[in-house]
Amino acid sequence: MRLKNISLITSFLLLGTFFVLSFALMKVTDMLEIEANELAQASESIQVAQSLKNRLLTHNRNSFLYHQHKDQVRFENRAIQRQEINDLLKKAYELINREEERSIISVVQEEINEYLLRRDSHENEPITPLERYNLVSQDVDNAIIAIDKLIDINRSQMNELITQVHAQNQKADQLSITLLGIGILLVIGIVFGTFMLVTRPLAEISNTISNYKAGKAQERLLSRGLYEVKVIASNFNSMADWLEEKRQDQLRFIASIAHDLRNPLNSMSMASEVLLSQSQNENIELSQIIFTQVQSLDRLVGDLLDTTRIEAGQLSLSFKKNNLTQIIQDSVKLFQTSSRIHQFRVEHSDRELLYTCDSQRISQVLGNLLSNAVKYSPNGGEIKIESKRDAQYISISVTDSGLGIDESDFENIFKPFHRTKTTKNSIPGIGLGLSASRRIIEAHGGTLKVTSAISNGSTFSIYLPRES
Ligand code: ADP
Repeated sequence: MRLKNISLITSFLLLGTFFVLSFALMKVTDMLEIEANELAQASESIQVAQSLKNRLLTHNRNSFLYHQHKDQVRFENRAIQRQEINDLLKKAYELINREEERSIISVVQEEINEYLLRRDSHENEPITPLERYNLVSQDVDNAIIAIDKLIDINRSQMNELITQVHAQNQKADQLSITLLGIGILLVIGIVFGTFMLVTRPLAEISNTISNYKAGKAQERLLSRGLYEVKVIASNFNSMADWLEEKRQDQLRFIASIAHDLRNPLNSMSMASEVLLSQSQNENIELSQIIFTQVQSLDRLVGDLLDTTRIEAGQLSLSFKKNNLTQIIQDSVKLFQTSSRIHQFRVEHSDRELLYTCDSQRISQVLGNLLSNAVKYSPNGGEIKIESKRDAQYISISVTDSGLGIDESDFENIFKPFHRTKTTKNSIPGIGLGLSASRRIIEAHGGTLKVTSAISNGSTFSIYLPRES
């Protein structure tokens, strides 16, 4: 699937959820608003009915007292109350919620009209106020009964509405929880999907590229996940395959040249040794130069052959119990005479350091470190060789007081053909010794490290794991 499609689907899902959420919330709010209005209407209807009841009783009482005392104020009040009764009846009609309420209000109106008509019809009759009062009392009772019915019906309506609001609230709560759940699931889905389809494959790509950069040339990417990631993986793999093919071609080419140089160099080495042993006073210096140069050429070709073998995975070691102290001493002896301006100082923690290793390869590594120590301290100085053992490792270090190495090059110098800027143009070399040395030490289960500072010399340390 393409990243573009995933973004589109995710956006639609988010928009969809947002709309459903908003719509549902709007609906619930609308319903609650309607029910709240109906509730308010029912409560107002009860108030109107109760006022109607009051006005009716007050009107009846006022009429009685007016006939008793013939008081003008009571007469006027009675007219006001009659008007109020009419207004309240009108209001009651306006507040009707349901049809059954309308029929009860018409009964109320009929009963009140009956009362008022009867009152009007006996208004001027020559009877006592009490007799007049008694004549209308049945109509008043009937109207009160009808008003009470109106109150009851509104009360039960209110109770019904309260139950409905309660149910609606519960529904709203359930809806909110459901929508919240869907929202959370959607967010988790999006986060998980993004992690699985984007973050994880990208982290894998970054990891593989870092490993590849660190020298693991066999690292390849898995073609999975998003379309774009698959394209990157397939392009990276094709590029890595192509580079590996080129590298193998180069290695084969270098190996064939190194191989062809080996035999003539061996003969030259033997010849130069014989020449040196037979040289007289004036030729001895020349023979020494020829001997040293042929030796270093031989080492260089050896490094080339080793590197090509190691890179092709053909490094074979023959392990035997050896005395490391002896191997170190023999290696140092070979270099002691090679330079007059360097002083070699050897310090061993043990006279005998027995260790299972390939003695020739360990000598090769020591030879490489010692020849570098001489080569990269052109002004001479002390070269210290130290061997120690602790609980975990046997360590052998070679320290010079030469040019030094910048910290940024500490790892690079162990890569084939890498040389530092300081030495590249001033001191001959091809940058293969250290990469071969590190591979040899790693094949023994150990590590080869450097610590150094520019112009302050360098220390190369071999750490071999202690045997149990
Ligand atoms: P070469 O010496 O043939 O160039 P190496 O692999 O032995 O190859 O060393 C790689 C690079 O590391 C050298 O070119 C040099 O720049 C740096 N180097 C190695 N040993 C030292 C040292 N003792 N002092 C300073 N630089 C060193």
